[in-house]
Amino acid sequence: NKITIAIDGFSSTGKSTVAKQLAKYLGYIYVDTGAMYRAVTLYAMEKGLISDDDFNIEALVYQLPNIEISFKFNEILGFAEVYLNGINVEKEIRTLKVSGFVSQVAAVSQVRHKLVEQQQKMGKDKGVVMDGRDIGTVVFPDAELKLFMTASAEKRAIRRYEELIGRGDKVVYEDVLQNVQERDHIDTTRKDSPLEKAKDAIEIDNSSLSLEEQFDKILQLAKM
Ligand code: C5P
Repeated sequence: NKITIAIDGFSSTGKSTVAKQLAKYLGYIYVDTGAMYRAVTLYAMEKGLISDDDFNIEALVYQLPNIEISFKFNEILGFAEVYLNGINVEKEIRTLKVSGFVSQVAAVSQVRHKLVEQQQKMGKDKGVVMDGRDIGTVVFPDAELKLFMTASAEKRAIRRYEELIGRGDKVVYEDVLQNVQERDHIDTTRKDSPLEKAKDAIEIDNSSLSLEEQFDKILQLAKM
């Protein structure tokens, strides 16, 4: 019997790594909802609707119907990559620049409404692992398994920093840490579906867990 697995938590807690592993193991679909908010942010950046000192929310809301986000499974990578209006943007959405704007975009109710609706459609047949900030609380409040991942901000910033450096991005650790903290703040204090642990979610602090330990722990939970 297929179930729905919701994985929520703060930025860079390794949600997507676990979610991907789990989906692969169970033969489930994996949906990275953060990628969807990032793709909308990239659109806003490309259209000049958001910059360091200006965010034209009205224009973005007006253009929402023109934004089509989709996923296509990449056989080689073993997971689905995100497409913005038919173009693969998997790489472009991971920059620190996009990370710097995404939480502001994700705080817009109309953006959330559009993406939540799409996420609910994608997961309607169960057999899905979805990661994000509001999956267990808003998107699938009836999910059979809900996980809430945490780790210290410093641990998370180091992970994100190493990931960015590994991709060849020129970033400094302090900026990454600042971005992680800023997003934590915006995500937990926004009016519309703020990041919070669902009452029935199981909290996993992975500050000092190896990937294997973490995966084993979660697999036990998924089998219960
Ligand atoms: O998961 P990731 O770090 O890629 O998400 C990027 C941002 O998108 C988060 O910091 C948050 O502001 C937003 N987000 C959200 N709801 C989700 C997933 C992501 O608000 N379900």
